[in-house]
Amino acid sequence: MLRFASLASGSGGNCLIAEVAKTRVLIDCGLKLTETERRLERLGVAPGGITAILVTHEHGDHAHGVFDFAAAHGVTVYLTFGTLGAMRQEGKVLDGVRTVQVDGRQSFAVGDVQVHPFTVPHDSREPVQYVVSDGASRLGVLTDIGASTRHVESCLSRCDALVLECNHDLDMLWAGGYPKWLKQRIAGPFGHLDNGGAERLLAALDRSRLRHVIAAHLSQQNNRPQLARAALARAMGCEESWIGLATQDEGFGWREA
Ligand SMILES: [Zn+2]
Ligand SMILES: [Zn+2]
Repeated sequence: MLRFASLASGSGGNCLIAEVAKTRVLIDCGLKLTETERRLERLGVAPGGITAILVTHEHGDHAHGVFDFAAAHGVTVYLTFGTLGAMRQEGKVLDGVRTVQVDGRQSFAVGDVQVHPFTVPHDSREPVQYVVSDGASRLGVLTDIGASTRHVESCLSRCDALVLECNHDLDMLWAGGYPKWLKQRIAGPFGHLDNGGAERLLAALDRSRLRHVIAAHLSQQNNRPQLARAALARAMGCEESWIGLATQDEGFGWREA
C-alpha cells in the first residue's frame, strides 16, 4: 500500500511524505527543522522514521530544510548532480550527511518505495520531479514547471494519484502588484504552471487509473483555491469539490493511492 500526505505546499515551503510499508520518504523539505518535525508529528510520524529525502531542486521553498533535517535524523538525501552543486555553492550542504546522486532518466528504489525521477523545465540547475510507487499504485508529484512537455506527460500518465502545480491565475498575476520582471519569470517557460496550463496537462494524460487529484503550490497573491479546483475539475469532468487542495499552512492529510 502507498499512502501520502503533505506537510506544506506553496512558496513558503513544500514538503510531501510518501510511505510504503516501513519506508517513508519526503519529497522536498522547504520548512525549517522544528516546523518539519511538528508537522510530521501532526501526521502521526516520528521524525526519526524518515528514510530519505528526495529533492526536486535547490530553490529555498523546496530545499531550505533538507540538510538540517537529514543531519538531525540520519536521513539520506537524494538529489541530482546539478542540485547538489547549486546547494554546495550556497553553503547549504552539510558534511556528514549521506547523499545519493539522482539521474533524471534512471529509476531506483529506496527501501520499499520505487522512485521514478523525470526532468522538467524550470529555472534551476538540474530540476527533476518524481513518481513514487509501491509496485502497484503510482503517485506523481509535479510542481515548479514552466511548461509541460511530452516527456512529463508520458511520465505522469497512468498514475493513481497526482499532486499538480496550479501556481497562478494568469489574469490575477498580470493584474497584480509583482514587478514586471517577476511576472515574466513566473509566467515564462522556466517558471511556474498556471491553472490553464495545469488543466491542459491533466487533460493530455492517460487518466484511466486516476483516483486522487490535488492542486498544489498555489500562489497566495495570484491564485484562489476555487479557480485552481475549477480548472482541474474541467480536465477531469468531475465536481470541483472532488479536487483536493494542498495548502501552505496544512498541506493535506493522509490519502491511499
Ligand atoms: Zn517552488
Ligand atoms: Zn522552483
